[in-house]
Amino acid sequence: MSIHLQFQSKQHEASFSLGAKKTQRGASGAAICGARTRNGAACQNIPIKEGSNRCLSHAGPKAANAFRERKKRAFEGGRISAAEWNRAEARRAANRLGDQWKTNPWLPGSTIDLGEQERNFRDAVSGLALDALPPAVVDWLRWRYRRTQIDRPNSASWYKALTQDLQRRIELAGPRPTGTDYSEHKFASAPRTWAVSETGTTSSSRRELPDTPRAPKIVRGKGYTRPGRPRTQPADENEFDDLMRVYRQNTAVLEQIMSAARGEAKQLAVLRTLRDYLARPADVEACKRWLELVEAVQVR
Ligand SMILES: [Zn+2]
Repeated sequence: MSIHLQFQSKQHEASFSLGAKKTQRGASGAAICGARTRNGAACQNIPIKEGSNRCLSHAGPKAANAFRERKKRAFEGGRISAAEWNRAEARRAANRLGDQWKTNPWLPGSTIDLGEQERNFRDAVSGLALDALPPAVVDWLRWRYRRTQIDRPNSASWYKALTQDLQRRIELAGPRPTGTDYSEHKFASAPRTWAVSETGTTSSSRRELPDTPRAPKIVRGKGYTRPGRPRTQPADENEFDDLMRVYRQNTAVLEQIMSAARGEAKQLAVLRTLRDYLARPADVEACKRWLELVEAVQVR
């Protein structure tokens, strides 16, 4: 069945399709998370029930906890397999460890098992005493090895990891804290790890695709992070001449307003407001801003 839509204008049509996209975001019409990701695109993951239209990664901790509780009930009720539940729990444990490493990189544990490749990894870093390094750094190095030597071989990246990044990470981690018992029994619930053989072998794996570049950082105007309105930007020579011309041509109107405006920044703002209004008399917003200035002076 098709619906015939009659739009009153191009603008009407545009705003309609914009609204339609909000309720039907995925290419196939299926709902997607839509959060902005590091490469600048919309997150394509499926929203979780608890997450107000966001996926598990973007819904936040409260929704993620509720999601886990629901999965737990599903596992206990036999609706999902033990393998699926264990995989999810292992991932959660690894995420938790990664979080704890942010405050203490010396906590024992690892989040990756290189399996057969572990021997090759040890050979590749044979000059390093792995046991003397912070476990967080060794874990990072294993992931780098997997990424640059197994999944997508890139010797330049691996070389950089070994010669530059490794040293920096070791320095950032600082020396091993003293007086803490790191023996294994305290960490009985050590996270399960991902094994190389388990993942990355399916044909649909994104690991076979090249890395997508990250989006450039969004550059906001000066004053964006400060509370309140952004500061008035100084005028360059051309703009200053322009504003002076506006001033000379409208001295009678401006006299009172300019004397009420304290400081050069405020006076610049007044002149800019009048210039914008004169340039676009039909612009409602520009007109409103100018009238606000005039009224503010008359109230005094
Ligand atoms: Zn998402």
